[in-house]
Amino acid sequence: MQNEIQVLKNAVPPLLKWYAVHKRELPWRNTRDPYKIWVSEIMLQQTRIEAVKGYYAAFLEKFPTVKALAAASEEEVLKAWEGLGYYSRARNLHKAAKRIAEEGFPRDFAGVRSLPGVGDYTAGAICSIAYGLPCPAVDGNVLRVLTRLTADERNIDEMSTRIAFSDLLREVYPAEAAEFCQSLMELGEIVCLPNGEPLCARCPWQKMCAAHLAKREADFPVRSEKKARKTQRIYVYVLKKEGKFALRKRGKEGLLAGLWEFPNGTTDESALYGRPLAEKWARHVFTHLEWDMTGYLIETAGSFPQFTFVTPEEMQKSYALPSAFKAFKEWVK
Ligand code: SF4
Repeated sequence: MQNEIQVLKNAVPPLLKWYAVHKRELPWRNTRDPYKIWVSEIMLQQTRIEAVKGYYAAFLEKFPTVKALAAASEEEVLKAWEGLGYYSRARNLHKAAKRIAEEGFPRDFAGVRSLPGVGDYTAGAICSIAYGLPCPAVDGNVLRVLTRLTADERNIDEMSTRIAFSDLLREVYPAEAAEFCQSLMELGEIVCLPNGEPLCARCPWQKMCAAHLAKREADFPVRSEKKARKTQRIYVYVLKKEGKFALRKRGKEGLLAGLWEFPNGTTDESALYGRPLAEKWARHVFTHLEWDMTGYLIETAGSFPQFTFVTPEEMQKSYALPSAFKAFKEWVK
């Protein structure tokens, strides 16, 4: 431990220097506003930076303050989130906004951590970046960088490893907390890449990194074996009736809870609705599950009171459909 603290202490100055020169210009990097940083951190959970950029700007335009977000309806918030996935993030953001609008944005780690949808990593990032507090934000990216630097063979999927590295970082947090937090993330995102392909020649730690010096970059991080994803067959029906399309709302629990969707099921019931005009196959990958989807476009004459029929314009404006159904949305016109 003592040795690792020293290694990390020595690693901080070159990292900060590197970050000052090489950091990318990202829309959320020029602010200390906790609301804006919070929104960016929630969007960035499980989503690539490139995908988040456009959503972030549009979301803040629509909800420029936490009060504006709190005053919106859940449908409006979900609509602004449409396509980003993991919709519970949007619901929690909305729930938390209502609390913040009344009580103000929490100013310390415990307060931030208590917001719905905010875990240790996100609370650490918000406190470091918005308030300059020495609160480590440790995710898989940061753990990869740190276990390579120290050639640490502990399994990063174990909570105890995460806690150990959080403790370690707390010991070495410099006064430039915001920059330090972001520089660790940035190194993991643009230099110390996963899958044994780090760009060590560009790394500020190349002369001190234990994994690199031993040519063992690919051995780190040590992880548990991944469980295979399950595949589920899904049949999707894009039902058109008098220029309108059928939607229904998913249940309140489970995958994509509460979102609108095209009618669908696990057995082929297309004959119930009519003769398909078009058919198409698509795949959507969730974290633990994969949907193998066959979609049908069907002009129907039947009566289906269980569905809500909406025009393409209404769907575009007010109904948030998960990106799993994106391939079939092309038929809506
Ligand atoms: S030297 Fe290579 S392995 Fe080590 S931290 Fe830098 S990029 Fe990662």
